[in-house]
Amino acid sequence: MIKVTKFGGSSLADAGQFKKVADIILADSNRKFVVPSAPGKRFSGDDKVTDLLYKTYALACAGQDTGEVLEKIAARYEEIKNELNLKADIRAKVMRIKEKLEAGASVDYAASRGEYLNGILLAEYLGFEFIDAAEVIFFTEEGVLDAAKTNAVMGKRLAKCGKAVIPGFYGSKPDGSIKTFSRGGSDITGSLVARAAKADIYENWTDVSGFLAADPRIVDNPETIKYITYKELRELSYMGAAVLHQDAVFPVAQSGIPINIRNTNKPEDDGTMIVSKLADNYKSDMTITGVAGHPGYCAITIEKSMMNSKLGIGRRFLEIFERNNILFEHLPSGVDTMTAVISVKAIEGKLDSVLSAIQDELEPDSLEYVPNLALLAVVGHRMAKSAGTAGKIFTALGKEKINIRTIDQGSSEISIIIGVDEENLEKSIRVIHDTFKN
Ligand code: ASP
Repeated sequence: MIKVTKFGGSSLADAGQFKKVADIILADSNRKFVVPSAPGKRFSGDDKVTDLLYKTYALACAGQDTGEVLEKIAARYEEIKNELNLKADIRAKVMRIKEKLEAGASVDYAASRGEYLNGILLAEYLGFEFIDAAEVIFFTEEGVLDAAKTNAVMGKRLAKCGKAVIPGFYGSKPDGSIKTFSRGGSDITGSLVARAAKADIYENWTDVSGFLAADPRIVDNPETIKYITYKELRELSYMGAAVLHQDAVFPVAQSGIPINIRNTNKPEDDGTMIVSKLADNYKSDMTITGVAGHPGYCAITIEKSMMNSKLGIGRRFLEIFERNNILFEHLPSGVDTMTAVISVKAIEGKLDSVLSAIQDELEPDSLEYVPNLALLAVVGHRMAKSAGTAGKIFTALGKEKINIRTIDQGSSEISIIIGVDEENLEKSIRVIHDTFKN
């Protein structure tokens, strides 16, 4: 059996955390490949090493002195090294970053050194081989991940080695220069390693015991989701339930490798298991898997009598958004109405021209603009099969006198997206969660 483990920044923020991580890895000989992030915050208000590296780059670009920030970075690693009695020459490696930046190295090179140095320390501490991610993760000249080459080269390399540490977050371009993923991208590295190693499971260790059915800042003690499908996760993440980088799902989902979200500080918790399909006899505690929401949307609705018998209105409506380079989020529609739900950010500065284009080109009977909307996603694989879920949701919201602005049940039937006034967002989440709580 092969397990790939990825540890986030808070899991590796200091020597004490390194010890916890080593205990977890060494407790199971199947944990063969390890992907570390850079050291994160040790306490609130602390610096993430990655942020310090971006700062170093900015200072170097501005021709200012980088000494103080680099010293801070070196000190973070030195402390870990000294407490764990390691030998790696951190000072020399940090000096090298300075030299490379002075010679014009890129921002991605700077940012990637957080994972690189952490990987070197962790490999030494565990007695595992260190594999530089630049040798096994590849991007194209344009900076797009070359998934096929990565899988082939990394697959061969991992097959040859026993146990290894591969730093997260970066790889290399054809000219050998370093390229990083977007922030939080070590999750993607873990996923690529799991696929290349043909792992049985991808364990993603962080500082929470998995996904919760709702945001704990809004709902008291929400349940931990034990099992969730990749598709459900996609719907919840879209609404901002961010534990895992969204691009991390694809490589493992494609090869059917489950992801287990675990808590480094509470290794006894089972966490959340993300799978492609749930066992037929699996019974979750709640009909819904989770509810999440976000403010910052608006809706534009047109009404035109006999719209359903006229060709091209929908296309022309959407074309106006396309022409203005505006992505739409949802498209609830009725017999004579059509609504586009859009994020406020996307339409900023363009609202007047969009509304007048709709008026002039489509001549609707009415044109309505609703600002200050929040969207809620109620997600659950069982919703499609159990009658009455939508009814329960709307009855509960109605009882609380929450006005529902839009409804969209995705055709996948694993989610219902509801638009409410922003001021009702948190209340709606609480009401829906409590309706399905056992
Ligand atoms: N260290 C990088 C960041 O802070 C990548 C990661 O942690 O996944 O975004």
